Amino acid sequence: MTGPLVRPGPLTHGTELNAVYAIARIVAETYDTEAGLDAVFRLSRTIFIFDVVSLFLHNKETGEFEPAYALALGRGRSREADLEWGEPAATEAYRSGQTILRQEDAGPSVKGRERRRDFLGLPMMVHGRCVGGLVFGRFGGPAYPPEHIRLAEFVAWHVGQLLENRRMARRIASLEAQRELTRMQDEFISTISHELRTPLGMIKGYVTTLMREDTHWDSETRLEFLEIVDEEADRLRELIDNLLDSSRLETGTLRMTLEPIELSALIRDSVSRTKSVYPEMDVEIDVPEDLPRLQADPTRIAQVMDNLLSNANKYATGSPIAVRSVRYDNVIEIGVEDGGPGISPEHVPHLFERFYRVPEQTSNVRGTGLGLYICRKIIEAHSGEIGIESEEGEGTRIYFTLPVQVMEPIMEGEHER
Ligand code: ATP
Ligand code: MG
Repeated sequence: MTGPLVRPGPLTHGTELNAVYAIARIVAETYDTEAGLDAVFRLSRTIFIFDVVSLFLHNKETGEFEPAYALALGRGRSREADLEWGEPAATEAYRSGQTILRQEDAGPSVKGRERRRDFLGLPMMVHGRCVGGLVFGRFGGPAYPPEHIRLAEFVAWHVGQLLENRRMARRIASLEAQRELTRMQDEFISTISHELRTPLGMIKGYVTTLMREDTHWDSETRLEFLEIVDEEADRLRELIDNLLDSSRLETGTLRMTLEPIELSALIRDSVSRTKSVYPEMDVEIDVPEDLPRLQADPTRIAQVMDNLLSNANKYATGSPIAVRSVRYDNVIEIGVEDGGPGISPEHVPHLFERFYRVPEQTSNVRGTGLGLYICRKIIEAHSGEIGIESEEGEGTRIYFTLPVQVMEPIMEGEHER
């Protein structure tokens, strides 16, 4: 954000006051330090003469005295050269904490003009500490009179304020980022704890019941209870796997192992696996056997298919499901369609976010809202796309694309090399 940048006008009686006022306003209103410095120095030049100005700051991390800003306004000097000339005065002002006047003889006079250089070095104060030096350089003019020195000190003080504003803005931004991070971590922990506690509570409850010495359970009931414990333990493991995957995907530490895959076979395997768990599922596969080979991570793509099929089973229970493929120029698209209740449009844009679940469904179907987030991350890591088309009362289609590797034609003679 930048405040109004006031242009220097012609020198009049009120110019000095106007410039001083405008400099103070820029400092109060400008958040863009570079633009603020440009404006302050251009305005300063309407009230005292200098050809170059440069700012050096002490870098706390490296211990170096580094050029942070330079502006050449007169006599067509280059910034680099001006910087070099200004450094001794800036260093001296920084070390002594005092205003420094340096004069240099830049060689014999040309066409009767003296080639003298005057440097005015000022300590740069930020938050009561000297952090660097500001240098105004004038080439071949009269020496700086005391009133110009006072104006330069006024400008230096305001430049210090600009740097202080920047320091504060950075500090606020980092505090806000930290607060947001803590909030997200808290939310994450509370969601996870809740999700972990449910299957754990079931396991504990059934095991404790089975262990009671005052009750005898017939073998059928015992088996039924043990099956529940077994299912809940699976659920717990799945949850932990998903949580691990999701945090690795978030930090970019989950590596994809790309290899040539037979997508058609992978899809058929995934459907049989899902049907072995839910035998009543009605799944049609409309995918040709001879899809082109793709470079992909087979385990991860199978994970995507498994979640899409499990979702179709959970949220569109009893409806026929179809898995179809479409071949476009450079991609293959795979879609999983169901004839379930569909998803209302306000939820669709959020479904690929971590932990997002459609609120109305949450109470009767178990899940954490990690599945589609993981699918998106996996597909993105393969440079593919994932999307949803859903119509309330009609059904849902979730599709993803994977790029087909274009085989480079072998150039004549290439095989001989
Ligand atoms: P998890 O997959 O982590 O066990 P989940 O199934 O709730 O939990 P996602 O797979 O990310 O999580 O799905 C997010 C939400 O999208 C689901 O909670 C559900 O509300 C909605 N959803 C997903 N697939 C369908 C579908 N085929 N029909 C209707 N709603 C769906
Ligand atoms: Mg799911």
